[in-house]
Amino acid sequence: MKYAPVIGLEIHVQLKTKTKMFCSCATHNTAVSPNANVCPICLGNPGVLPVTNEQAVRYGILMGLALNCEIAEHSKFDRKNYFYPDLPKGYQISQFDLPIAINGHLDIDVPGGLREIAHIGITRAHLEEDAAKNVHAENGKTYVDFNRGGTPLIEIVTEPDFKSPLEAKTFLQELRLIARYLGVSDADMEKGHLRCDANISLRPAGDDGVPLSPTLYPKTEVKNINSFRHVERALEHEIQRQTKLWEAGTPPMVSTTRGWNDAKQMTEDQRTKEGAADYRYFPEPDIPALELKDLADEMRGLLPELPAKRRTRFVQEYALKPSDARQICEDPALADFTEHVFSELGEWLENVPKMEDEEGNLVGKEQARLAKLVSGWLLSKLGGLLIQRGIDVRTMKISPENFAEFITLLASNKLNNAGGLKVLDKMLDDGSDPSHIMEDAQLGQMDDAGALAEIVDRVVESHPAELARYRAGEEQLLKFFIGMVMKESEGTADPGLSKNMIKVKLNQENTAE
Ligand SMILES: [Zn+2]
Repeated sequence: MKYAPVIGLEIHVQLKTKTKMFCSCATHNTAVSPNANVCPICLGNPGVLPVTNEQAVRYGILMGLALNCEIAEHSKFDRKNYFYPDLPKGYQISQFDLPIAINGHLDIDVPGGLREIAHIGITRAHLEEDAAKNVHAENGKTYVDFNRGGTPLIEIVTEPDFKSPLEAKTFLQELRLIARYLGVSDADMEKGHLRCDANISLRPAGDDGVPLSPTLYPKTEVKNINSFRHVERALEHEIQRQTKLWEAGTPPMVSTTRGWNDAKQMTEDQRTKEGAADYRYFPEPDIPALELKDLADEMRGLLPELPAKRRTRFVQEYALKPSDARQICEDPALADFTEHVFSELGEWLENVPKMEDEEGNLVGKEQARLAKLVSGWLLSKLGGLLIQRGIDVRTMKISPENFAEFITLLASNKLNNAGGLKVLDKMLDDGSDPSHIMEDAQLGQMDDAGALAEIVDRVVESHPAELARYRAGEEQLLKFFIGMVMKESEGTADPGLSKNMIKVKLNQENTAE
């Protein structure tokens, strides 16, 4: 018997507002010491009145729109009652029956997955305030840091549509990227900006992995997952654990809560908060209901291009390989930079003569060649130099205009790879333009055929032994001669031209004898 996993996610994303959800305290990201960013409202003193942070509502709507949700015209806040030290009011302000967003979906590409595209339903997304943080000290005491208490969160609940741990991980990574594109959160999982609980159950399936019936079985909720890798591991571990239970004839009969223990690489049974099943939600009487129709229309107009669309456009418009487009779009700043570079190169392409045949094929070819140059130099060479220097594309001194010019120098063979690396390094030093660097340092590719011919003659004549072996049939020695010519020219020779000239030279010698 096979078993098919049914997985759903509940994700909390911390919204990057300047102030908290219902008071004017700064969010804890800026706090220098515990309990610095607090006031009577977020400490839950009696008699205070919370006021909704409009920016948090705007961010929440943006997130809902990006997840293809319907935005509620009418929404409200509710009190979710439970007793815990991290919750000074004895209740959390959340949303119960009228969340700001419902009925959405996100389609994700899953490279290497069971299915290429996973369609994931979004049940709902609602706004709420974060709880404070319990700090368990070495002296055995527990302290409460209220800096985090009251920070705005959006909770996103998916349908149980994931068919594998890989799909769940990929979805979370895409969600992080969307949050960054929208500018609503840094969504850094390690820093707790993005937190995830995963629900998983199994059900009997046929040999093809398709479930035998639509029945769902009691699920396990896995908590405390704080990295993308852990999400995948925890779910894989649960599949193994639950498969054993099914095979032993004792499948889970009730829903349970477990935590991921990364040190042991396993999930562990977790006692749930007492009485957590009954939160006795009731409407928050101190906060006016939200009428969102106008705001939703306004935010719809402000929705930026999202990563999936941008990746597709980069492939179609700039002829980038899908894997390169994916890598570039992982960083919104790098994607913006690339966009600038291509717009500069577009003008250059139009001004390069004799590139178009009757069917326009050459332009296409030239564009693909340029795309390859841009992605190669951007991702591996520039990327490597940036890592070495500990900076990134936001802080580097190279402008898109100068990088585009640099690419045209490579594309027109005025600069070869060896010279290119030196020029790029210098560009990073002081932001100067590549043509000047090239002229100053004489890094340009040798375009004087006469000078190159002299070097070729000299190299061939000073290596009679290799020449003899070549003539005797060791044709791979051609590479040796090319290497020697590149060395003699200090890397400025055009490798293609050198190869042709060396071949001619070697063959001439042959004929002469
Ligand atoms: Zn406060």
